[in-house]
Amino acid sequence: MNSVDQQLTLLELPRRKTRRVLVGNIAIGGDAPVVVQSMTNTDTADAVATSTQVMQLAHAGSEIVRITVNNRGAAVAVPRIRERLLQLNMNVPLVGDFHFNGHKLLEEIPDCAAALDKLRINPGNVGKGKRRDEQFARLIEIACQHDKPVRIGVNWGSLDPSLLARIMDENARRSEPKNANAIMREAMIASALESAAKAEEIGLAGDKIVLSCKVSTVQDLIAIYLELAAVCDYPLHLGLTEAGMGSKGIVASTAALAVLLQQGIGNTIRVSLTPEPNGDRTREVVVAQEILQTMGLRAFTPLVAACPGCGRTTSSVFQELAQDIQGYVRDQMPKWRLEYKGVENMTLAVMGCVVNGPGESKHANIGISLPGTGESPVAPVYIDGEHAQTLKGSNIAGEFRALIDDYVLRKFPRRNDLNGSPQ
Ligand code: SF4
Repeated sequence: MNSVDQQLTLLELPRRKTRRVLVGNIAIGGDAPVVVQSMTNTDTADAVATSTQVMQLAHAGSEIVRITVNNRGAAVAVPRIRERLLQLNMNVPLVGDFHFNGHKLLEEIPDCAAALDKLRINPGNVGKGKRRDEQFARLIEIACQHDKPVRIGVNWGSLDPSLLARIMDENARRSEPKNANAIMREAMIASALESAAKAEEIGLAGDKIVLSCKVSTVQDLIAIYLELAAVCDYPLHLGLTEAGMGSKGIVASTAALAVLLQQGIGNTIRVSLTPEPNGDRTREVVVAQEILQTMGLRAFTPLVAACPGCGRTTSSVFQELAQDIQGYVRDQMPKWRLEYKGVENMTLAVMGCVVNGPGESKHANIGISLPGTGESPVAPVYIDGEHAQTLKGSNIAGEFRALIDDYVLRKFPRRNDLNGSPQ
């Protein structure tokens, strides 16, 4: 097996055919890869804090960032956030999240709409009764005036009550009424599709619309998106809403998204993790990337294969090295990505002992097998399947990092050499 074979191979899964929507410089749908999105949790009115967090999310790999625009202070801050990002040479597309008063804010502060790349409208939260339709129409007209795409984002926590009542009445007249869950799904899909049809009637082009129908339970999310994907060709934004904290949020999001992505459903994803108090917001971006990368759908950062450790690894040296190397590679990626073509496909292994260590290391571009308990205190390194050298002593981590740097330098073509200029 040569070094190219050993690099991460991406899957070419059949994808659901959709329209292609351009959000700033990022395409969603069509033949575009699945896009990673995130959302800030700063007070949008604080333009410095919000633009700083947008920068952090974009640096972590978020390709689109959403910010809430919930009041006048937030709407006024949006153009300042955009301006500060441009000063920092950052042009990540920004999405404004509007509820209840979005029509007023966008009418009163047109620079807010102009500074955004997409509007997210929740049809359950734009107003009640007749005002609902008027306010929804006004939001769509503003999107048309500014030539902005719209995500019609239905959420089961804010489903339009009048639409739900109508669907329940229709269900009651059926000879075999559906159960409550099926009715909730039917109402959410109807809300998304009827809102999209209304938006197109008002004048929004079909290739300016993305849909989402978010719920917080895995099986309902899968069922809704399977049904929605079968009846429309709008690109779909996937995400389990209120996924929760820590491993629960990660596992639930992964379980739901993986089933849909495997069937070619989903054009953009967000992992809605609740951060730990003072936790790092960029975690949701890393998890979204890792879902796509471990499924073989996209490559972002070389991921370290590591064994779980067992009674043969009684010290923490092995876990520390695996963590050190994954952190090192992630830190280097913003620079490597600009300089070296294909470096994100590199594969790495850090293994705990001789049982599976050499074998797994040989399957990676560069792998190391540490000494297990009772083994001689040396760490053989394998490069492209061959034993390259053996590390020992107190600086194994530093020497292994240097070998990775050297591998990147030797094996991945420099973008400058390929094109004459960095991409
Ligand atoms: S490679 Fe060695 S240390 Fe790692 S799980 Fe297997 S036996 Fe245990």
